[in-house]
Amino acid sequence: MPDIIQLLPDHVANQIAAGEVVQRPASVVKELLENAIDAGATVIKLIVVDAGKTLIQVVDNGIGMSATDARLCFERHATSKIRKAEDLFDLHTKGFRGEALASIAAIAHVELKSKQESSEIGTHIKIEGSALKFQQNIATSVGTSIAVKNLFYNIPARRNFLKSNTIETRHIINEFQRVALAHPSISFSFHHNENEIFNIKNSNLRKRIVAIFGKKTNEKLVPISEKTDIVIIEGFVAKPEFAKRKNDEQFFFVNDRFIKNGYLHHAVINAFEGLLGSGLHPTYFLYLTVPTKSIDINIHPTKTEIKFDDEKTLYAILKATVKHSLGQYNIAPVLDFNRDSSMDTPYTFKDKKSLNPSISVDSNFNPFKEFEQKAIQFPYKREQKMEWESLYNNIDDSYTETPFNSVESGLFQSSVPETKTHQIHKKYIISSIKSGIVYINQNLAHQRILYEEFLENITVQEAASQQLLFPLEIEFKKTDIQLILEIKEDLESIGFLFDKISGDSIVVKGIPVTIVESQVTTIIEQLLEDINNEIPNASFSQLDVMSKSLAKSLAIKTGTKLDVKEQEEIVNKLFLCKQPDLSPYGKTTFITIGIDELDKKFN
Ligand code: ADP
Ligand code: MG
Repeated sequence: MPDIIQLLPDHVANQIAAGEVVQRPASVVKELLENAIDAGATVIKLIVVDAGKTLIQVVDNGIGMSATDARLCFERHATSKIRKAEDLFDLHTKGFRGEALASIAAIAHVELKSKQESSEIGTHIKIEGSALKFQQNIATSVGTSIAVKNLFYNIPARRNFLKSNTIETRHIINEFQRVALAHPSISFSFHHNENEIFNIKNSNLRKRIVAIFGKKTNEKLVPISEKTDIVIIEGFVAKPEFAKRKNDEQFFFVNDRFIKNGYLHHAVINAFEGLLGSGLHPTYFLYLTVPTKSIDINIHPTKTEIKFDDEKTLYAILKATVKHSLGQYNIAPVLDFNRDSSMDTPYTFKDKKSLNPSISVDSNFNPFKEFEQKAIQFPYKREQKMEWESLYNNIDDSYTETPFNSVESGLFQSSVPETKTHQIHKKYIISSIKSGIVYINQNLAHQRILYEEFLENITVQEAASQQLLFPLEIEFKKTDIQLILEIKEDLESIGFLFDKISGDSIVVKGIPVTIVESQVTTIIEQLLEDINNEIPNASFSQLDVMSKSLAKSLAIKTGTKLDVKEQEEIVNKLFLCKQPDLSPYGKTTFITIGIDELDKKFN
């Protein structure tokens, strides 16, 4: 087989978008996987140790390299994929810059083994910090194996800058998924520290999505298909009722390359108009095929952004196609009637702004109107309300639940023992203190209390756990299962007990005494999201993130009516905290107004 790699002439090399290719282990994973795909591999193995900090290895069964090419491939601007400047606008391969292997070899220990089908013997190369250590013959199977060890070993600043293993692994998984989704006809496996994270056989697109995102995904998918002169659109969107709080399942592929594009994303969002609740994100896997000459991939070093010749038309076609498919599959606006069960009083109904459906319903319709009118006929209540209102006559009338009329149960009329706390607007607790008044935000204060409790439970005490009568099976994506495995011990230390964590589900048999069974799924989901989103710094600790997340999930929400006892408990517990003045996320939990300050206002 002839050698195929050539050094790009300077005038071509100079036209290539410059920039850092290797930012983190995941960038190496992406480049190596893409090279394997360009080499025509049908089976690709990824092996990672310590989130890629110790080893990233990709083994493929592609065309392999000759001994000369194997040495040349580590040179800057050495590529077999393009020859001349015009080729940049007619790309059929993932790579074309000839820079990835050179950049990787400069900052790591690299070992390459490769053999072509036509060769008797393979070649073995070791390179460290761009310096060739040796090259010799080796008996090896057809294809290429590249092992990248000790990434950034010679740039300690960059190595120290890497995030925790959890975060770096997350990035690697994301890259792996994107490549695997773009190439359903290729078999992939992925091992991390001896664990098999993925082993996905070649299949079709739907099966590939399900292999990655779990069995449950299948029923959620609505197929998308459109063929025009300028674009072919294939893929799936998830039905609107499966929209997520997280926007992590949104994928665009253009000519089998994962890309990010805010404009096209907007087209999809637009197609979902009126079908999604607020704060929810649609899931989509959309594959666009366009003429190679109509796009420019050479605008960004990592090739995740591309320029289209005619973005406006694409926008229109994409929006119409997605909309049409949603319509065809009879996905008319759905009202979630289950939610209504929580509207047990007119007041909670009014406070829950998110309950106002954003779709075409009569927004003036209030099933509680009649009830409200009746309610205000109670004479004593009316009086109390007026007294209070005269102090706050500019208050929005959804806030009628003042501490005074909340005592409508009759308590108020009898000799109520004088309490030291009051709740206002179902949001603040006020209490008189020696020097004046304290205003406490109930939600933020409770977050602080729970946060300190959780930290203590995790670090000091054995947490109390309640056994579930029927173990609870919850499905998660494989990547989430991986994360749960990593934090299993921490979860156990706060009271979770598991029967099984594997495949795409977990079985929970015990939960912390502080939570109820119906909250378990949301709490764990929120926790995973927070851990994934955490940007760690020097003081990063998983326990801290977990405690914060649980505190946020479980704290009494704004809009919850608290009885006097509950109010007092919050006040007392808050001031027993180590740092009562701030929520775990750094927000002010209370403010005080001194008597002096008050006095001044009356002058
Ligand atoms: P690019 O992919 O942009 O050409 P790289 O630095 O990633 O640049 O790779 C340089 C060259 O090495 C490629 O053009 C290709 O010829 C060869 N090469 C890299 N990886 C493989 C592989 N896994 N199998 C066969 N050839 C490879
Ligand atoms: Mg490449």
